[in-house]
Amino acid sequence: MAYQFECAAPDCVFLIRAADEEEVIAQVQRHSEERHEKSPPPEDVIRERMETVDVE
Ligand SMILES: [Zn+2]
Repeated sequence: MAYQFECAAPDCVFLIRAADEEEVIAQVQRHSEERHEKSPPPEDVIRERMETVDVE
């Protein structure tokens, strides 16, 4: 199983998938700062929007 998060911003195709929940959160926060130049969403918001996916 892996964790997946898709950026909700319009015209942004950022998608992160990782086996580690903390890794996804870290990547999403970095993406938000670097790409959208805004303060990263809080951890609980990211967790709420995170999906779990099955990987072989
Ligand atoms: Zn984005």
